[in-house]
Amino acid sequence: MLEPHQPLAPPVRDAAPRAVASEPPDGPPIDPLLLRFAAEARSRRFQVAANRGFPPEAEAAWRGLVARLDDYLARPLPQTPLLELVRSSVTLEAEWEFDRRRYGPPPADLARLVLGRDQRLSRRIATSRAIGASMFAARPPGRLRWPIVNAGLSSGFGYRDHPLNGTRQIHAGIDLAADLGRVVSAAAQGYVVSATWAGGYGLLVEVRHTGDLTTRYGHLSALLCAPGDALDPGSPIGLIGQTGLATGPHLHFEVWEGGQVRDPLAFIGGGTGLAPPYAAAALSGGPR
Ligand SMILES: [Zn+2]
Repeated sequence: MLEPHQPLAPPVRDAAPRAVASEPPDGPPIDPLLLRFAAEARSRRFQVAANRGFPPEAEAAWRGLVARLDDYLARPLPQTPLLELVRSSVTLEAEWEFDRRRYGPPPADLARLVLGRDQRLSRRIATSRAIGASMFAARPPGRLRWPIVNAGLSSGFGYRDHPLNGTRQIHAGIDLAADLGRVVSAAAQGYVVSATWAGGYGLLVEVRHTGDLTTRYGHLSALLCAPGDALDPGSPIGLIGQTGLATGPHLHFEVWEGGQVRDPLAFIGGGTGLAPPYAAAALSGGPR
């Protein structure tokens, strides 16, 4: 499955929790938005009669905030500093409680939306704390699982001549051919650092593991995880696709250790990851 794209930049180098963001954000900071939301909610509570139900303007404001939080939570971890996450969660919970006291029970679907975002903020706060310095000191997770079972190894890791322009390029991972829509799963316990569109890689998920190990899963047709999610080995992270620069449905799988790209086959432990014609080739180092 030829990929004409250039190797992507290395993974997020430092996914550890930070008081301030360690990467330039993809969008505006969330703090001013939350402050404005809280100020408007406060003045609305003074103007609108108590206990006559949730006013439409309050409901609209909450739905707007939920949409902005979704944009914010789609950012990679290093773009959502821990302090900002904590402030967001505190503001959300406080304003929600004040509105409920003033207006009475909110519409059920609005409550579901707001509480769902609060849970996502809490999960992300927990991840930001857990992914801290201990991740770098800790031992690697041991052998990795196949991210998809019974796949075909359509391209191995390493340098190869580009068939079109003749230049030597590194193929920074392995390609596992599989049917469109099959579930791709986490190769080890870890935390989702980013899950987003990434140029030639299409929809790409980046997962941080203990021991400064990072795995990447490219060309997905759908994302089944979000930045900040904690994953068990085998947790579903996405579906096989051919997004980005890919000539057919397959998974492009990368392993990075200490900031260096490695051959994933050296990390994956035994099992039945590959369909029969490919298994022997993998044992001999994989086709080039
Ligand atoms: Zn590839």
